[in-house]
Amino acid sequence: PSSHNVPQEYYIPSGHNASLELAQRRANATFVILARNTDLDNTVRSIREMEDRFNTRHHYPYVLLNDEEFTEDFKKRVNAVASGKVEYGQVPKDHWVQPDWIDEERATKGREKLVADNVIYGGSVSYRNMCRFNSGFFFRHPLMLPYRWYWRIEPDVHFHCDVRFDPFLFMQDRAKVYGFTITMYEFDKTIPTLWGHVKDFMKLHPEHVAPDNAMGFMSDDGGETYNRCHFWSNFEIADMNFWRSPAYMDFFEYLDSKGGFYYERWGDAPVHSIAAGIFANKDQIHFFEEMGYEHNPYTHCPEDPGMWERGKCGCAPERSFDYDGYSCMRQWDRFTGRKN
Ligand code: GDP
Ligand code: MN
Repeated sequence: PSSHNVPQEYYIPSGHNASLELAQRRANATFVILARNTDLDNTVRSIREMEDRFNTRHHYPYVLLNDEEFTEDFKKRVNAVASGKVEYGQVPKDHWVQPDWIDEERATKGREKLVADNVIYGGSVSYRNMCRFNSGFFFRHPLMLPYRWYWRIEPDVHFHCDVRFDPFLFMQDRAKVYGFTITMYEFDKTIPTLWGHVKDFMKLHPEHVAPDNAMGFMSDDGGETYNRCHFWSNFEIADMNFWRSPAYMDFFEYLDSKGGFYYERWGDAPVHSIAAGIFANKDQIHFFEEMGYEHNPYTHCPEDPGMWERGKCGCAPERSFDYDGYSCMRQWDRFTGRKN
């Protein structure tokens, strides 16, 4: 394994029940899951897998968020599978609904255009609310404020390998800010004006731009155009101090003021990714190769045989998305020198 992987010293010896030793050192971290009441069965399945593959040794807490109130049945079913404390929160209306100052006529036209272009979720307002919430608000929810690190989970995802190390401690020790498992191209139709605003913001706020940033991963022409590579944000392990920093807060406010979450269909994935790519140094972004992860329709499965075996992975390495034509892993490897 190259120096890009999580080093041995972070691993618990396999077959060893190390809960007691591990309990000595913990990160200030939580899982976060945004879900609807109708996502109940899929949420329970995701948490069950997370427990079996990782959290049964750590008992990190969960924060579940919803724009509506969770039902008693939902709480009962989740409480039954989680091994850490679980808290349930409702998203405040003003962190969720389309703001009053959005020009509804223009937003309607924007949605109609994306529907006509067959863009997924093109006509959905609730999807746009969700993307804006994940971009700018989840880390400010009162239940999230006590924590620094989070691992985002979605209903109906799969964790295919044992995670026998604590990714939060690894990231904290190495001063990482953003961890991912899958990177791919964004649909250009959802973000036609985004990159222009990003460039304007960088001119307005050069003080926020990191000296050794990952612009070279996102742009093939020195920042002029966006190659649409981004990290798939349904999986994220990241440092909320980064989102809470003046750089990101200024960035989010700036983008939000342009209305593109509603006039277009900006996703939290490109917004988070571009921010990580600009405001962090490139070695603060980490690819968790060891973590087999699936969100329909794509799976990342470790292709290194030793890694795959140690993780007791249930996924097929030859079907890993990494070097699919739509993946941006090649760009990541080239940019970081992960593979020479
Ligand atoms: P996709 O991954 O882009 O296809 O979008 P998803 O439908 O999986 O939504 C992303 C996340 O947001 C998932 O965790 C969903 O459960 C959650 N989500 C999406 N829309 C809503 C909504 O209207 N309300 C709530 N509470 N959660 C939502
Ligand atoms: Mn999803």
